[in-house]
Amino acid sequence: MSAIDDLPPLREVIRRHDLRARKSLGQNFLLDLNLTARIARAAGPLAGVDVVEIGPGPGGLTRALLAQGARRVIAVERDDRAIAALAEIGARYPGRLEIVAGDALEFDVRPHLTGAPTRVVANLPYNIASALLVRWLTIEPWPPWYDRLVLMFQREVAQRIVARAGSKSYGRLAVLAGWRGEARMLFDVAASAFVPPPKVTSSVVDLAPRPRPLACDLAALERVTEAAFGQRRKMLRQSLKSLGVDPLALLAAAGIEATERAEQIPVEGFVALARALAAARR
Ligand code: SAM
Repeated sequence: MSAIDDLPPLREVIRRHDLRARKSLGQNFLLDLNLTARIARAAGPLAGVDVVEIGPGPGGLTRALLAQGARRVIAVERDDRAIAALAEIGARYPGRLEIVAGDALEFDVRPHLTGAPTRVVANLPYNIASALLVRWLTIEPWPPWYDRLVLMFQREVAQRIVARAGSKSYGRLAVLAGWRGEARMLFDVAASAFVPPPKVTSSVVDLAPRPRPLACDLAALERVTEAAFGQRRKMLRQSLKSLGVDPLALLAAAGIEATERAEQIPVEGFVALARALAAARR
């Protein structure tokens, strides 16, 4: 028995299904159901909400999401060994757990959407965490199919997502996250909470998508942030030369001093630069 349901403890599930963690799959499991319940609670009231979970593994967070009242959990898992363990959770919550066996990078959520609010809650495999986040932040057309992302990352990646201009962690990821959403750091989870423990601390991040981000062309925004942060210690009049248009004209059109550096420019400044770039190429 465990604290949140009448399913067996996760250690027993792992033993029975021979689910020893594999590094190649980014497997660091959370076995403390109080902690997984804390992450599920951080995702807010879940009644009436469909949750997409990437990488459920033995199902600690899955169980917490279902116990917390999620209408449905769509769980995408690449490791075949975990599928049978997850099926036992599905039997405990009939009709509420959809198990998708496959690679999250290839997963198309659209056929699974039911019209209910959909939230992504996951302890992500670290090797694909940033790629998944960028994918969710660059969905077109916007607004996206999810109403919130509540995700666990390595702390260093979490800092790069929530960073503000002027901080060392501020870069392309923060500009993208800040343009399309409002991200905040919720809490840290010590390495010792995982089996096996990773080398670094982890953090849970909450990101709420902006219904109407400042209008700007995504490709142009990516080009200016790539150029600016590609040479982050240089002044923008230098680093933006790689865009192939006059950097001084771009900076003037965006109302930004030519001697500023990428790290000092808030999201609105990059949006203004992207607009100026798009206009210069028209
Ligand atoms: N959610 C579980 C927990 O909190 O204990 C496991 C988290 S573990 C950090 C990451 C999980 O993602 C593993 O179960 C792993 O098999 C799965 N995974 C790794 N790469 C994946 C991929 N490309 N698509 C789907 N799942 C993947």
